Amino acid sequence: MEGLVKTGKGTGFIELKEVPIPSIKANEVLIKVKAAGICGTDIHILHDSFPYYPPVILGHEFAGEIVEVGKEVQGWRKGDRVVAEPHSRTCGVCDLCRAGYSQICPDKRSPGWGMDGAFANYVTMPFSLLHRIPEKINYESAAVAEPLAIVLHEVAERGKIHAGDKVVVFGAGPIGLLSAKVALLSGASQVILVGTDRDVDYRFKIAQQIPVDYIINGSKEDVVAKIEENTKGKLVDVAIEASGSPKAIAQTVQVIKHLGRIIGVGLPGNRMVEFPWQIAMAKVAEIYFNMSSSHSSWNRAMNLMESGKIDPGFVVSHKFTLKEWKQAFEYAEKGIGAKILILPN
Ligand SMILES: [Zn+2]
Ligand SMILES: [Zn+2]
Repeated sequence: MEGLVKTGKGTGFIELKEVPIPSIKANEVLIKVKAAGICGTDIHILHDSFPYYPPVILGHEFAGEIVEVGKEVQGWRKGDRVVAEPHSRTCGVCDLCRAGYSQICPDKRSPGWGMDGAFANYVTMPFSLLHRIPEKINYESAAVAEPLAIVLHEVAERGKIHAGDKVVVFGAGPIGLLSAKVALLSGASQVILVGTDRDVDYRFKIAQQIPVDYIINGSKEDVVAKIEENTKGKLVDVAIEASGSPKAIAQTVQVIKHLGRIIGVGLPGNRMVEFPWQIAMAKVAEIYFNMSSSHSSWNRAMNLMESGKIDPGFVVSHKFTLKEWKQAFEYAEKGIGAKILILPN
């Protein structure tokens, strides 16, 4: 089969290579990958600013069809349409694993960086991590289940948006757009989205369809002044930081009310961030740092897709074959469109 392999450390070193179809263990299934999304994390791996273990096939957001089932697998059959929580290998014995937080186990290895992932024709997964794709959801939308689960964990479960909250989302990429949608579903009374010039052509149009209440172009407009104006000077209860931009991270403190909450979702990579700690202290702000998705957030994602409340495919903008991976990565890196998918088969 073909796999997109990060062959070594350093910027670049990505190659489409002929590799063997992986063999499955007794508790695993072999999945034919139908669609796999490029994530900000993949771009960080390309630039060496997120941990990974080369040589490794990239890709951790995927949907596919089971084509082979291990001897100990229960409840799953060939032909089942699945997505999977990407927590393939966790130690099981550390305090975090034992307390139910295996997604942040220090020894975790996930497909796409810690072990071979889904930018390939096939990927293996333990059956305990699978979820069935609801009938009305196609593979391309289902490939966005993982970012949706992340947003549900970080924004809804940990950030605890309450009915009536006013919310601003920094970042108009797929995670920012999904965050805006989840904030509205959680009962937010107003959602303001902040993007930049590169979001105008495509992402702001998706945002209008969600629909968010107000869009600010931070490249041209004074973000803090616009938010003050739009909240009649009262500012917002919650700022969701989904851009990873140091400038936006600093602005989150300025736009929240006293006792407001900041939910960190985007990654700044290796950049240092200057943060107005004094203002955060004076406002008695709550700040939530986040990483990864929980089992319960996956259940929420599947429930929302099943009920038709969300089809996360609304963030998909472009589809490429594995052979076109360079262009796909270029689009993702430049922020062209929104979620970029690779369709390996
Ligand atoms: Zn991701
Ligand atoms: Zn552990």
